[in-house]
Amino acid sequence: MSQIMEMLVRRGFIWQSFEIYGGMAGFIDYAPLGNGLRRKIENLWREFFVVNERSVEIDTPTVGIEEVFIASGHAEGFTDVAIECSECGRVFRADHYVKEKLNLEVDPTIEAVKAVIEEFDLRCECGGKFKEPEHFNLMFETKIGPGRGKKGYLRPETAQGIFIAFKRLSDYFRHKLPFGVAQIGRAYRNEISPRQGVIRLREFNQAELEFFCHPGEKKHPDFHKYADDVVTLVDKFDKEHRITLREAVERGIIAHELLAYFVGKTRRFLLAAGIKDDKLRFRQHKDDERAHYAVDCWDAEVLLSYGWIEVVGIADRSDYDLSRHTKYSKEDLSVFVPYDEPVKVKRKKVVANIAKLGPVFKEKAKKIAEELAKLESAGDEVKVVVDGEEITVTSEFYEVREVEEEIHGEKIVPHVIEPSFGLDRITYAVLEHAFDVDHVDGEERKVLRLKRYLAPVQVAVLPLLSKDRFVEEAERIAESLRESGVYTELDTAGSIGRRYRRYDEIGTPFCVTVDHQTFEDGTVTIRDRDTTSQIRIQKDRIVDVIKELLSSEKDIKEFGEVFRP
Ligand code: AMP
Repeated sequence: MSQIMEMLVRRGFIWQSFEIYGGMAGFIDYAPLGNGLRRKIENLWREFFVVNERSVEIDTPTVGIEEVFIASGHAEGFTDVAIECSECGRVFRADHYVKEKLNLEVDPTIEAVKAVIEEFDLRCECGGKFKEPEHFNLMFETKIGPGRGKKGYLRPETAQGIFIAFKRLSDYFRHKLPFGVAQIGRAYRNEISPRQGVIRLREFNQAELEFFCHPGEKKHPDFHKYADDVVTLVDKFDKEHRITLREAVERGIIAHELLAYFVGKTRRFLLAAGIKDDKLRFRQHKDDERAHYAVDCWDAEVLLSYGWIEVVGIADRSDYDLSRHTKYSKEDLSVFVPYDEPVKVKRKKVVANIAKLGPVFKEKAKKIAEELAKLESAGDEVKVVVDGEEITVTSEFYEVREVEEEIHGEKIVPHVIEPSFGLDRITYAVLEHAFDVDHVDGEERKVLRLKRYLAPVQVAVLPLLSKDRFVEEAERIAESLRESGVYTELDTAGSIGRRYRRYDEIGTPFCVTVDHQTFEDGTVTIRDRDTTSQIRIQKDRIVDVIKELLSSEKDIKEFGEVFRP
């Protein structure tokens, strides 16, 4: 880990935020290369979960008003248990501290933490005793506007912005389930003591998809695309399976096809980003780990130098979010689902006798009749409210009849399946899995074997010598690559060997070199990062060949005779 972190900082992937003021745990800067890589991973996610999911993407504020988080449950329940040292004042997240010092899993409750502290006489690293454990809310609080202002929070997840826009979104989709809505953006969690470097951040990037479906139809028309994929599953009893997703659904290991579909799609996305299949597993939440409203929940975990780390959470959240926002906002967030065929049902109906009502109740008669029509039964008399006035109507004014009615559909509150991705963890995992050390010509070489389409610098154009005519030719080639949309760097500094090493280390898939022969026969070399082999091609073919190489996994030998200088 230290080797890769050192490289990521030195080469400009990730820097410590606020460095000149001593830094602050839980915040990182995306340096030029890290920013380029994360953006490309973000776009790959978009391809999978927006474009190829027929979903839409929205962008809502990162500041939320208090009401949203009262309804969502975050204001009350988005907490961890914190323990504070009575001597040095340091504060730790209790479950993490217990795991680190005692290698024990403790339930994140005050009682359980207290019991462990007492049983093992757990002390702070300074030797001091801990005070009583306390709940700590992870949301950053803020104030909107001047004076007393209005209480707000920085959002701890992007999902709420989607739930509270649900009415508009449902209109947008003409109330036709299922539909998916995605959001990519910053989320903020005031983590108690983030000690895992880039893994646990206080400001991070999420990509979330909320897939709204009919509660009785948790299926996906594209499931067949992933059904035969073999995945590693660790079920809630800690039993490991290497099975197809179809089998996982049939045997009831994964609750339903729609969740299995997203497990499959998430796996394909992570593999496309460069995560190694043998270092990827899906772990099911245990019954006591899962939120009470969640039907089933699977985390994608990636093996890193930190151990198995959760990078994606995939949950069936039932109708919890929409029902909570319905209750607190008093807005109807249900969807009318038409039946294929209208259904005939018999029901009792109270029918007013207008001829009798009119003379007695005069101008109120019509409204009384309307109120009576809403009832399904009535005895000798009923009470109805008209214009705020309670009126007693006796049975001479109505009769109860059985009628047959056609029902065209029903109102339901959709369920939501949520794959929630941590882009920072995925970016770091991609870097760790791509990092490799091999030997070239008897020398150790560090190389980042990034997928070609994710490399932040796609091509480096290198003049062999820093003489004018070499540099000018290199500039012309670099310019033509840039004009065709290829991210290209031109580098004249240092020996050619050192420059190749630099671009290997930052994962640049191809280097183009202008050398003496360029001025004899108009050819340049293309060097492949992974094999360090080269080919020579005419310089006017560079743009076409490079573009084809970048968008495929083709070998350079398809474009010319391979040689090793
Ligand atoms: P959650 O809403 O807790 O299921 O988080 C969804 C995803 O966000 C996780 O799978 C992580 O990849 C990511 N994530 C959660 N908390 C953090 C954090 N403090 N720092 C970085 N990524 C996080």
